[in-house]
Amino acid sequence: MPRAALQAFFTQLGEKPYRAAQVMKWIYRAGIDDFDGMTDIAKTLRAGLRDVAEIRAPAFDEGRLSADGVVKWLAATRRGQAVETVLIPQERRNTLCISSQVGCALDCSFCATGKQGFDGDLHRAEIVGQVWRAARELARRGDQRGITNVVFMGMGEPLLNFDAAMDAANVLTDDWAFGLSRRRVTISTAGVVPRIYDMAGRTAVTLAVSLHAANDALRDRLVPLNRRYPLAELFASCRHYLASLGERRAVTFEYTLIDRVNDHVDQAVELARLLEREMPRASASRRGQPSALGAQDGDSSSCKINLIPFNPYAGDPHGYRRPAPARVARFQAALVKAGFTTMVRTTRGDQIAAACGQLTGDFLDRTRRRQRYLAKAAVA
Ligand code: SAH
Repeated sequence: MPRAALQAFFTQLGEKPYRAAQVMKWIYRAGIDDFDGMTDIAKTLRAGLRDVAEIRAPAFDEGRLSADGVVKWLAATRRGQAVETVLIPQERRNTLCISSQVGCALDCSFCATGKQGFDGDLHRAEIVGQVWRAARELARRGDQRGITNVVFMGMGEPLLNFDAAMDAANVLTDDWAFGLSRRRVTISTAGVVPRIYDMAGRTAVTLAVSLHAANDALRDRLVPLNRRYPLAELFASCRHYLASLGERRAVTFEYTLIDRVNDHVDQAVELARLLEREMPRASASRRGQPSALGAQDGDSSSCKINLIPFNPYAGDPHGYRRPAPARVARFQAALVKAGFTTMVRTTRGDQIAAACGQLTGDFLDRTRRRQRYLAKAAVA
């Protein structure tokens, strides 16, 4: 529960709201999931809590470790399915990539999760619980840093499980809980436009938008959701959300590079023009005042670009390939030349199928999409 809900919960029990702080500190700082361990709470209250509440994070399997240090866990849900959680250690960070749904209903053409079908939402406790469990795991190994960054880039579309995702983000950034900076929590979406509007005022975490194409015709093919919410509407919602944040914040645009599909240098130029038009660079445009800073000023940039070279996966019905490094470099160079901060996401964890777009988990598909893809593959 987010702090406010937990305070209300205690008030309803006839207790003081400060109990929420006590309990949250035990759970998130001390890593305790047993009311009996909460020694500054009266025994009778602890017993009462045991009757009406539970502290339960999804269990992790033993995990799979990739040679590059990435760890992938299968997290068990309350309904007996499994989703995937990925830890990506870097020099000074531990980024955790968490799932928000069991599978995904969207079916973007290049993503393995979509091919698995969909089997429902995760509860907010199952979302937060992935972070809690991973933090415990790090503590057990003596890793002092703990989880420093969280990205909602695992299985599922977080904005289609909106309330749970918002509550989870709230707990991640709450000082009584994980206390992560809002900049270090990222919600990634394929572009659920009405919910991007709803994010404004409800959260202030970083927004990442999975773009992958600079025009509607191509994006319609790669991200079917684009047929419902085309680019112009998507960018309008991004501007709205960005305006709700303070200064010096940016939206991240993710672009999976697929060989000969969306990786031509002309497409990079088209992307740069689109972003120049749709995401004006000067921060002044967000404040409605002229800026003293030139458009070249890096800090006033309202967007960043992350390029993700396509990660192949078993059963890909399209036969997509990862572009050669030279093509990736050329695409990036064109964007940098146009003035955009553009990072190429290094491929990590692909050895254990933990890279972007390779997460499949273990669950029954309720959409029959998996069968359809398997049947197609058999015919081919
Ligand atoms: N549904 C959300 C959260 C998933 S994020 C979203 O779409 O943003 C997962 C990221 O990995 C997205 O940017 C997605 O487009 C990208 N991705 C999916 N499949 C991929 C693949 N096979 N190779 C590389 N990136 C992929």
